Amino acid sequence: MAYVIASPCVADFSCVEICPVAAISPGPDSRYFDNVEQLYIDPLSCIDCGACQDACPVSAIFPEGALPSKWAHYADINRQFFAVAVL
Ligand code: SF4
Repeated sequence: MAYVIASPCVADFSCVEICPVAAISPGPDSRYFDNVEQLYIDPLSCIDCGACQDACPVSAIFPEGALPSKWAHYADINRQFFAVAVL
């Protein structure tokens, strides 16, 4: 089970910088950055360390199993980004 970024994300990159396995995209240098509404966590790369959750200034990151019900669909939204993006 991976961590998931939900709706409050403001893309401030604290999570990108702290992730030990580069599981969060797009970073500020990515060609996708100008075209996304938020950042996303790759569930296949995430090692569940929780560092991004602690770093997020707006509490937008949750373990998938602890997502608030109103944001439960963000697990699929995060997964889908990596299914279509060529990083
Ligand atoms: S939980 Fe850890 S490994 Fe997973 S996205 Fe956050 S910082 Fe990266």
